[in-house]
Amino acid sequence: MFFIFGLGPKTKVIETNQFVCPVCRTRSSYELKQQRNYFSLFFIPLIPLSKPKNSFVQCLNCRTQMPSTVLDHAQPNV
Ligand SMILES: [Zn+2]
Repeated sequence: MFFIFGLGPKTKVIETNQFVCPVCRTRSSYELKQQRNYFSLFFIPLIPLSKPKNSFVQCLNCRTQMPSTVLDHAQPNV
Protein backbone atom coordinates (compact mmCIF):
# COMPACT_ATOMS: atom_id res chain seq x y z
CA MET A 1 0.00 0.00 0.00
CA PHE A 2 1.37 3.38 -0.91
CA PHE A 3 0.05 6.85 -1.23
CA ILE A 4 0.55 9.39 -3.90
CA PHE A 5 0.11 12.83 -2.48
CA GLY A 6 1.18 16.30 -3.25
CA LEU A 7 0.64 19.97 -2.87
CA GLY A 8 -0.42 22.28 -5.57
CA PRO A 9 -2.42 25.29 -6.57
CA LYS A 10 -5.79 24.79 -8.14
CA THR A 11 -7.45 27.47 -10.20
CA LYS A 12 -11.19 27.76 -10.23
CA VAL A 13 -13.40 30.03 -12.31
CA ILE A 14 -15.85 31.68 -9.94
CA GLU A 15 -17.54 34.10 -12.28
CA THR A 16 -17.89 34.83 -15.96
CA ASN A 17 -19.24 38.16 -17.06
CA GLN A 18 -18.58 41.11 -19.31
CA PHE A 19 -16.52 44.19 -18.72
CA VAL A 20 -14.68 46.85 -20.58
CA CYS A 21 -11.13 45.64 -20.56
CA PRO A 22 -8.67 48.38 -19.55
CA VAL A 23 -5.96 46.74 -21.64
CA CYS A 24 -7.58 46.18 -25.03
CA ARG A 25 -10.34 48.76 -24.39
CA THR A 26 -13.01 46.48 -25.76
CA ARG A 27 -16.18 45.24 -24.17
CA SER A 28 -15.44 41.58 -23.78
CA SER A 29 -15.97 38.62 -21.52
CA TYR A 30 -13.82 37.96 -18.51
CA GLU A 31 -13.31 35.10 -16.15
CA LEU A 32 -12.85 35.79 -12.47
CA LYS A 33 -10.54 33.10 -11.16
CA GLN A 34 -9.31 32.14 -7.77
CA GLN A 35 -6.25 30.21 -6.80
CA ARG A 36 -5.94 28.08 -3.72
CA ASN A 37 -3.35 25.62 -2.53
CA TYR A 38 -4.59 22.11 -1.96
CA PHE A 39 -3.27 19.01 -0.35
CA SER A 40 -4.12 16.27 -2.77
CA LEU A 41 -4.17 12.52 -2.52
CA PHE A 42 -4.08 10.41 -5.67
CA PHE A 43 -4.27 13.62 -7.67
CA ILE A 44 -7.60 14.56 -6.09
CA PRO A 45 -7.51 17.91 -4.31
CA LEU A 46 -8.80 17.16 -0.83
CA ILE A 47 -7.93 19.79 1.70
CA PRO A 48 -7.61 23.49 1.00
CA LEU A 49 -4.48 24.71 2.70
CA SER A 50 -5.04 28.39 2.45
CA LYS A 51 -7.86 30.83 2.38
CA PRO A 52 -8.95 31.73 -1.11
CA LYS A 53 -6.74 34.48 -2.36
CA ASN A 54 -4.99 35.58 -5.49
CA SER A 55 -8.23 36.13 -7.28
CA PHE A 56 -7.61 37.61 -10.65
CA VAL A 57 -9.46 38.50 -13.79
CA GLN A 58 -8.57 37.27 -17.23
CA CYS A 59 -9.83 39.08 -20.28
CA LEU A 60 -10.94 36.49 -22.82
CA ASN A 61 -10.25 38.87 -25.67
CA CYS A 62 -6.60 39.77 -25.09
CA ARG A 63 -5.88 37.07 -22.48
CA THR A 64 -4.37 39.56 -20.07
CA GLN A 65 -4.55 38.70 -16.40
CA MET A 66 -5.12 41.54 -13.99
CA PRO A 67 -6.08 42.02 -10.36
CA SER A 68 -9.75 41.61 -9.57
CA THR A 69 -9.89 45.25 -8.43
CA VAL A 70 -10.19 46.33 -12.07
CA LEU A 71 -13.81 45.21 -11.90
CA ASP A 72 -14.56 48.04 -9.51
CA HIS A 73 -13.76 50.50 -12.25
CA ALA A 74 -14.67 48.64 -15.42
CA GLN A 75 -18.34 47.80 -15.31
CA PRO A 76 -19.90 48.17 -18.76
CA ASN A 77 -22.99 50.07 -17.67
CA VAL A 78 -21.31 53.01 -15.99
ZN1 LIG B 1 -8.57 42.69 -22.95
